[in-house]
Amino acid sequence: MISTSIPSPTEPFGLHRPTLATTPAPTGHEDLFTRHGMAWLPIGCFLVRTGDRTILVDAGMGPEMRDDGPRRLLVGGQLLLGLRAVGVTPPDITDVVCTHLHADHCGWLFDTEAEAVFTHATVWFGAHDWDHFVANPDVWMFDHIRHGFRVAAKRGARLRPVTLDTTIAPGVTLIMTPGHTPGHLSIVVSSGGRRALLLGDAIVCPVQLDEPTWQSIGDVDPELAQRVQERLFRELEDGTTLGAGAHLPELQFGRVLAGQGRRWFT
Ligand SMILES: [Zn+2]
Repeated sequence: MISTSIPSPTEPFGLHRPTLATTPAPTGHEDLFTRHGMAWLPIGCFLVRTGDRTILVDAGMGPEMRDDGPRRLLVGGQLLLGLRAVGVTPPDITDVVCTHLHADHCGWLFDTEAEAVFTHATVWFGAHDWDHFVANPDVWMFDHIRHGFRVAAKRGARLRPVTLDTTIAPGVTLIMTPGHTPGHLSIVVSSGGRRALLLGDAIVCPVQLDEPTWQSIGDVDPELAQRVQERLFRELEDGTTLGAGAHLPELQFGRVLAGQGRRWFT
């Protein structure tokens, strides 16, 4: 099994300090906030190849951007180019797993006409995110993405909402990690004795190891998100499990080194 990250340097995620924080406004970690007080993180995706399956984990921001003023700037645009760089075209993708349905994780599922981009793919996501984002018009979502989901559901397209831990291919299991969103899930990729976690936004940045109260402003249930985050950090402490999230710097895999104060090690 090969797992390939697709860095998307021009799908950046500008993350202002308060975005990761509770009040009072945090200080420190100046190295992270180098661009006018903003952390500049990737919007990343991962490609997992196993047997005859080519599984895309998360689907980026799409050809869009969203400016939330002083809080956050999301810029998309490069995922399809990133796929081409590793020799993959959209019809090659057999499965898309969306860790959750925030705009920066499902943006390439449908084009601006709400037509499927990955025409042969089964799409996996947490069922509770459907209720939260797609069924509920009061929660913001790009119109063409919401419409695309609804049209796909009507057509009987291959949408696979899940509520329980689910193995979708040999060595690829979805596990429920709610908190950031109600249906947030992570992916366990295992091969031989090796194991990796693809964390979506359950861990947004390794700085959360030092600053557990720095929660993503997108967390719908911050307390649950923090508990799940701690559970995942413990798994990443076991010496055999590596992890990477959709916004971790350089999309680098890392683990937690226990000892005098835990630290993130890549
Ligand atoms: Zn995200």
